[in-house]
Amino acid sequence: MSQPQAVPAAAPLDYTPAVALSTAAVGARLRTVIPAIEWPLHAPYVAAIAEWKRRRNAVILAHNYQTPEIYHGVADFTGDSLALARHGARTEAEVIVLAGVHFMAETAKILSPEKTVLIPDPRAGCSLAASITARDIRLLRQRYPGVPVVTYVNTSAAVKAESDVCCTSANAVAVVESLGVPRVIFLPDEYLGRYVAEQTAVEIILWRGHCEVHERFTAEDLRGFRTECSMSDNVAVEFPDVEFIRPCALCPHMKRITLPKILRALETLEHRVEVAPEIAARARLALDRMLAVGRRESGR
Ligand code: SF4
Repeated sequence: MSQPQAVPAAAPLDYTPAVALSTAAVGARLRTVIPAIEWPLHAPYVAAIAEWKRRRNAVILAHNYQTPEIYHGVADFTGDSLALARHGARTEAEVIVLAGVHFMAETAKILSPEKTVLIPDPRAGCSLAASITARDIRLLRQRYPGVPVVTYVNTSAAVKAESDVCCTSANAVAVVESLGVPRVIFLPDEYLGRYVAEQTAVEIILWRGHCEVHERFTAEDLRGFRTECSMSDNVAVEFPDVEFIRPCALCPHMKRITLPKILRALETLEHRVEVAPEIAARARLALDRMLAVGRRESGR
């Protein structure tokens, strides 16, 4: 597989009176998290992206951890990776720009195969998703014949396709117990798997996959932060009178997505995310099984 290429930098756009006027309302709303002196750097991109969204019939789906100028300045939908993919499937737009990491864009493509799905920087990966491959799962199945595989959604399409069912951190225990078996293979997040094992009588076979952000910060650090950096910025915009702790960015992959790269994606229709139909169909089955568990749980 060829290595993703760096996105070349373009000359900054000008902060003209027309741009100032068209972005004044957004700028005022972001005043609590973006200093007035910085706004002229973002505003020309906010204006240009709005124009290109119209031209392309495009929407921008932004993960909760994106920076405020993306989250509040240009996003049409915000949420976690699964919510974004489901929003993408519902929209009438022809083009989806995924402001998040690569597995999220793949999940959006799986649920919207007929739409053009773009990721502004193809190097926006995820250490957790990269910790396991489709081949690893095939080897696990040989080692544990007949044991079902439950896979956290922070994984590639190829890994989802080899799995029996997906899960999120919120529904992992319910998904594991829904299978009605004495043991399951749970991957790739070791810590989430250990948590699930504490909550259920089902035996959990773990995979030692880790998120590099969680590895880098101690539990004490994370308690002190209260929420991830951009997440707290984004909440702060909603509650301007409340003082929030806003630490530096934690996930380096999420931070690869910037306004200039989103603009370039819309202008050039790059970088397209493709998932082979056979893999997409099997990955979708694993996602649909998870959603069916959610429906059964909420119908109880
Ligand atoms: Fe992956 Fe961790 Fe970044 Fe989330 S925070 S995208 S799990 S590396």
